[in-house]
Amino acid sequence: MTEQTDDFELAGVPDAFQRLWTPHRLAYIKGGQGQFGKGEQDCPFCLAPTRSDADSLIVHRGESCFVVLNLFPYNPGHLLVCPYRHIPDYTDLTVAETAEFAELTQTGMRVLRSVANPSGFNLGMNQGVTGGAGVAAHLHQHIVPRWGGDGNFLPIIAQTKAITQTLAEVWDQVRSAWPED
Ligand SMILES: [Zn+2]
Repeated sequence: MTEQTDDFELAGVPDAFQRLWTPHRLAYIKGGQGQFGKGEQDCPFCLAPTRSDADSLIVHRGESCFVVLNLFPYNPGHLLVCPYRHIPDYTDLTVAETAEFAELTQTGMRVLRSVANPSGFNLGMNQGVTGGAGVAAHLHQHIVPRWGGDGNFLPIIAQTKAITQTLAEVWDQVRSAWPED
């Protein structure tokens, strides 16, 4: 994480950057994913619903599951669907939770299509540390919007600064487009 300076040294740009992004709310970006322990008390997906939607970048709260922007997105608009319960495995979901988990995944895709017109998606759950889960103790479904060519240029531009600059804007767009219950 670098300081909030303007790489291009253009007058006024750092000020605009500060308006787009509110780093004081996203303190946990600075610590990275490594700061999270295994217990519920410091599980990011247990903590998120205890904060305001703006502080946690939650775009929708359902009955048993909620949808949040990934703080470490592969692409802008990368959403995570999580049960409120601190459970690690897909098979731990109740029937009702499974239904809402799936419904929110579908709605997340529809909302992203409406606001960002992706040409494809990657959906999925990494199960267990061996399966690649960053937070293995709390189940989460990735919804990653894809655009043609994103795999080519994103590794170049998708540094922390470039992505986090868009988080507050993306949150506002997705949240506003989410249909009322
Ligand atoms: Zn948890």
